[in-house]
Amino acid sequence: MQRETFPVGPLQCNCSILYDEAAHDATVVDPGADLARITAFLTAHTLKLRQIVVTHGHLDHIAGAKLLSEQTGAPVLYHQADLAQLAWMEQQAAWMGVPTPKVAPPDESAEEGTKIVVGTQTGTVLHTPGHTEGSISLLFPESNLLLAGDTLFRSGIGRTDLPGGDTATILRSIREKLFPLPENTEVIPGHGRATTIGHEIERNPFFNE
Ligand SMILES: [Zn+2]
Ligand SMILES: [Zn+2]
Repeated sequence: MQRETFPVGPLQCNCSILYDEAAHDATVVDPGADLARITAFLTAHTLKLRQIVVTHGHLDHIAGAKLLSEQTGAPVLYHQADLAQLAWMEQQAAWMGVPTPKVAPPDESAEEGTKIVVGTQTGTVLHTPGHTEGSISLLFPESNLLLAGDTLFRSGIGRTDLPGGDTATILRSIREKLFPLPENTEVIPGHGRATTIGHEIERNPFFNE
């Protein structure tokens, strides 16, 4: 499995394309903006988009999902608990100074244990609530790769002051679902630089007072 990650939109959300060039198979994670760049990549590598996975329902991660789905026919997966986030999309758009995006309920809810296939590899959804109620992380054990959305950042955690956020819950999600992973697991957060589970166990200030 190969991965292309680049920041999109005004909040620089990390969008990832997970793909298997031999199998012409791709999954896009968090297409928050910049659909032209995403579709150009798919075309250049002759990839067929199998599915679109959204780590949580905030505008900067979900904004392009519906449109990309319409353009490609690929289904959109996110946790149904984040349907609540769609209700205040207009307000999120006003804050970010962008047009209100077209959003829709998930074609399939991505819940704990949901499998995400990319070529020969199978990823697993981990439900990691706290930033929002439906926040998920996506684990590909064979690649030692975790896409953590806005749950875990390099030396930080996602904010919990927005609707559906809860600090005790996000700390528990990280401690119970993410920190037990192998320490060399590469973590691609929703924003900013990559890190590893080992680095965060050792250095993350939220767990090392
Ligand atoms: Zn967020
Ligand atoms: Zn974000």
